[in-house]
Amino acid sequence: MSGGREATATATGATPGPADGVATATEGPRLLAGSPIAAQIRAGLTTDFAAFKERWGYAPTLAVVMVGANAPSAVYLQQILRTCEKVGVKGRLVEIGSDVTADALCNEIERLNGDPAVAGIIVQMPLPAHIPLHTVIDSIDPAKDIDGIHPRNAGLLSLGYDGFLPATAQAAVEILKRSGIEIAGKRVVVVGRSNVVGKPAALLLLREHGTVSILHSKTRDLGQYTRDAEILVVAAGRPGLVTGEMLSPGVVVVDVGINVVAGVDGAERLVGDVDFESAKDIVSAITPVPGGVGPLTNALLLTHLMRAATNQAESRAARAKVGVGHDA
Ligand code: NAD
Repeated sequence: MSGGREATATATGATPGPADGVATATEGPRLLAGSPIAAQIRAGLTTDFAAFKERWGYAPTLAVVMVGANAPSAVYLQQILRTCEKVGVKGRLVEIGSDVTADALCNEIERLNGDPAVAGIIVQMPLPAHIPLHTVIDSIDPAKDIDGIHPRNAGLLSLGYDGFLPATAQAAVEILKRSGIEIAGKRVVVVGRSNVVGKPAALLLLREHGTVSILHSKTRDLGQYTRDAEILVVAAGRPGLVTGEMLSPGVVVVDVGINVVAGVDGAERLVGDVDFESAKDIVSAITPVPGGVGPLTNALLLTHLMRAATNQAESRAARAKVGVGHDA
């Protein structure tokens, strides 16, 4: 263990709690990179989507609904559409003006629900304030809700059934599992309780038998809890929220945050929610930003699309066999 780690433990009064199976690095932490895992998943998807096209005669479509212009979302959407192209999926960007009414937006989603070429639908958040979020989420067909935001899929997750998972939350957990980090029995702390990231990540970590605590914007003294973590997942959208003095030596950190900040040279750059510089000598392993959870999220989302497309194609074929029309 480096002197820096011991010094931090003394300064914060923290109890050392390294995660089992993770070597404490002597020259910087182990970086849990998502990109190589994502590349592996994409390679498998390319084969799977080619086989799908061979069997069913078409490439499935992912519809991405974007309401209004939003710079950080636009970057994210371009990444998804590029990933679609790489694996043989058709990406369809549905751009809608920010002055759209909730009814008109739901009608557009209904149209995509009824389009047999569209296997999956994601609606880019945040939506303009005048549009009730729940009305829009409820209008997505749960069978095409590949990012697991519909109440049906959220309910399936909380009961431990096999619905569509929110891809970012799944990526946060997958990066741990695929890096060989044991979760069962660990003190796991999740910062953030949103329906798309923090809450589902906590449920998935509980499913992996972690002992999970959830922190949020009203939690008093975050450090009191984060210092107890053996695994810390941070999804708050606050750059630099978690600093080195809030961590115990050997903790494994998954930084889900993606924040655009101005660098010293004035150029924009992406950072996470964890202050990497002060954390790097204390943690045993950490996901980088960018290059950690983000790339894995997109790859996992497309595995959900594969599953949705197959379910829909098989169910249409079964219905055709018994003579039921597609629109019946
Ligand atoms: P959100 O704004 O919906 O939720 C943020 C959560 O953090 C809330 O539950 C809030 O209670 C909590 N929080 C905010 N400030 C806090 C504080 N000071 N202390 C403790 N908790 C606090 O955001 P989200 O959609 O859950 O996204 C979280 C982060 O993850 C963002 O940075 C977002 O850009 C990023 N994100 C990454 C990916 C990816 O693929 N890596 C995908 C989606 C979102």
